[in-house]
Amino acid sequence: MPDQTLHPPGPVLVTGGNGYVASWLVEGLLKLGFDVHATVRDPRDPRKTAHLGAIARGCPGSLSLFRADLLDADAFDRPMAECGLVFHTASPLIVRDVGDPVRDLIEPATQGTRHVLEAAGRTPSVRRVVFTSSIVAVYGDAADLADSEEDRFDESHWNTTSNEHHQPYSRSKTLAERLAWEMAGRQDRWDLVVVNPGLVLGPGLSPHTAAEGVLVMRDLGSGYYRFGAPELEFAVVDVRDVAEGHLRAGLMPGAAGRHILVSETLGLIEIASVLRDRFGDAFPFPRQAVSRPVALMMAPRRGIPQAVAKRNLGYPLRFSNRRAKEALGMSFRPAAESVAEHFRQLLDDGVVKVPRGGGAVSGATRRHPGSRG
Ligand code: NAP
Repeated sequence: MPDQTLHPPGPVLVTGGNGYVASWLVEGLLKLGFDVHATVRDPRDPRKTAHLGAIARGCPGSLSLFRADLLDADAFDRPMAECGLVFHTASPLIVRDVGDPVRDLIEPATQGTRHVLEAAGRTPSVRRVVFTSSIVAVYGDAADLADSEEDRFDESHWNTTSNEHHQPYSRSKTLAERLAWEMAGRQDRWDLVVVNPGLVLGPGLSPHTAAEGVLVMRDLGSGYYRFGAPELEFAVVDVRDVAEGHLRAGLMPGAAGRHILVSETLGLIEIASVLRDRFGDAFPFPRQAVSRPVALMMAPRRGIPQAVAKRNLGYPLRFSNRRAKEALGMSFRPAAESVAEHFRQLLDDGVVKVPRGGGAVSGATRRHPGSRG
């Protein structure tokens, strides 16, 4: 962290404190000595919260867990009481095979944002809210870039092409971030700082989620793309850098506005090549791209609708991370490091299996202390 930091009095609230991103954020806050209030849906479920207890035991700060569902209008008042700083990270993350997009994504994301920010309105101690948005609130499909006159997306861009039928997760994040700015603009006690991470990869402290990064790694490791992968690009950022971005957004006095958190963009074939370099040939990682018609045919079997595939396959995806570097002083780990460490952890945890007859797996084991069981 930079020397100049804001030290708001009172505890700090993290919503969805047990999540992949939030667990690293909670650890960072506890290491800085904060009294952290973390909301989770079920504080009594050890599968969801045991890792947080383990993290807290080794840190100078203290941790209290509170029960809160995004759909419960009053759930955030008690955990927010006396807090100066609020991190709102909780949001449903379902990118593929969405059941009911409004019920499962749009309502919890927007109602949750409303409930958390209304609670901030009722809590006189709150001075800043950091909102976890996403690059999917900046753009809808990679084709949007080709349709624009720019060569990369930056914080001035907004997703205007997603709706509840096409990229509903992206729509949920866009509506929630827009609502957060609208509600922040109606008052002047607390300020809003937004972070917009790309595809988050890297080792987790929490048990696995079905986050998109895990699905991408699993598909590569399982050999699903052994005969070739679609030409699809991902804007990658490491989970530890995302947590650091949140800390800086919360603790730097001058922080304001949106911040794209992306290290670099990698295509699926490039990700596969990083993995082959680190883990040898034990896995059937793809070596070449498949043609567009074949990729379009494969997409629905991976839970990706054809219309989404059409507007993303073969289109370059570029982001500017200048603002995060200049305003927050961020530096980003190379994407290859995040890819390799994430895959290593999924392998250690049995989420990705060594194929039969695959032989020995190379690549250094690096598990975080207090990591998932
Ligand atoms: P995650 O591990 O799935 O965390 C999501 C958190 O939201 C979990 O704590 C989850 O609680 C909570 N949540 C979901 N629905 C809820 C509800 N109805 N009520 C209360 N809590 C609810 O995913 P993550 O990757 O850490 O995501 C954290 C934030 O980063 C999200 O806002 C996400 O949109 C954003 N983001 C993620 C990525 C990425 O690639 N992972 C990229 C950009 C932005 P449970 O554990 O109880 O389900």
